[in-house]
Amino acid sequence: MKKNIYDYTLQALQKELEAIHQPAFRAKQLYQWLYTRYQDSFSDMANLPKSLRETLQNTYTIKNLEIIRMETSKDGSKKYLFKTNDGLSFESVLIKMRDKKCDTNGQIIESEKWTCCLSSQIGCKVGCAFCYTAKGGFVRNLSSGEIVEQVVQIKKDNAIAPEKRINIVYMGMGEPLNNMQNVIQAIKTLAELDGLSISPRRQTISTSGIAPKIIELGKHNLGVQLAISLHAVDNELRSKLIPMNKAYNIQSVIKAVRSFPVDERKKIMFEYLVIKDTNDDLASAKKLLKLLDGIRAKVNLILFNPHEGSAFERPDIAQVKKFADFLIRKGLLCTIRESKGIDISAACGQLREKELEKTS
Ligand code: SAH
Ligand code: SF4
Repeated sequence: MKKNIYDYTLQALQKELEAIHQPAFRAKQLYQWLYTRYQDSFSDMANLPKSLRETLQNTYTIKNLEIIRMETSKDGSKKYLFKTNDGLSFESVLIKMRDKKCDTNGQIIESEKWTCCLSSQIGCKVGCAFCYTAKGGFVRNLSSGEIVEQVVQIKKDNAIAPEKRINIVYMGMGEPLNNMQNVIQAIKTLAELDGLSISPRRQTISTSGIAPKIIELGKHNLGVQLAISLHAVDNELRSKLIPMNKAYNIQSVIKAVRSFPVDERKKIMFEYLVIKDTNDDLASAKKLLKLLDGIRAKVNLILFNPHEGSAFERPDIAQVKKFADFLIRKGLLCTIRESKGIDISAACGQLREKELEKTS
């Protein structure tokens, strides 16, 4: 069976090519074709010898994902539905963080800023009560190559220049720490200087809080950023929202976070999904402040995005602002996640759901 060419770090690819008596620089050339020129055909890699191109063609696959649907939001964010080689589908989002700014002569003074939101699994085992992805259960892990190729295809589809800096968040479908090995390999591959060159400092893993796996990830010392989906300040509510909280409660998650190595200029992000009349009161804000005491933390408030059949409601923005103001006045960095792509079913899993409905 052919192997996925995106499944290799540069060093691993060098080893592969060494085994067929190719010099080490060939791996760099191949990397440049894949990641800076987004070339998806081995036969068009002009500076590689013809015989090598043929060998590559017979040994590796280069197009493992197909874009089967794309929706653009009013704010310029784009949501992609990908199909895998085994006929499964999952989503990724290209989020526009900043618009292009031009002067009066039309000269660009500031270019767009992009973040890629990647999936790490098809479906998810964690089963959070508010999440669309959870509804379909767990299907399978994505390989590191399938994680990396999301970025390649999205950059290509949007003609984003190779040198353009983008950020990565593992906040699409799936729980990245339940697919840790492949996610770590993807982080390393995305960071290769001869490839996409996305430093781990610009990559953020978001986790629902599997305490022992947070500790394990910390030990790898990758320099990756960490986001914790906290969502609640007392265990009773958190266990309702995230069933796994019964095994790894708030205190055990916070303890694990304290062991995580954080760059001096960086902070750990705590995501807090604000749900109307459930966790949006100032008493919760006060408890949150206390919980995060002594941690270099920032809080990101996410407005619950309702979907069909969900028991929860979107909070009032005025109430969310009060919540944020309280934390800010107490000296905590706090942002409200803008509803990027809200008109295109922003919460991951919703586009896939639509496609499944259409085909069923
Ligand atoms: N499994 C990881 C990362 C992906 S979850 C985690 O839970 O952290 C994707 C993100 O979407 C999480 O931040 C989650 O809080 C958010 N999300 C899920 N359902 C949502 C909804 N209905 N409205 C708003 N955000 C939602
Ligand atoms: Fe999985 Fe994250 Fe959704 Fe929870 S919120 S079910 S952990 S993808």
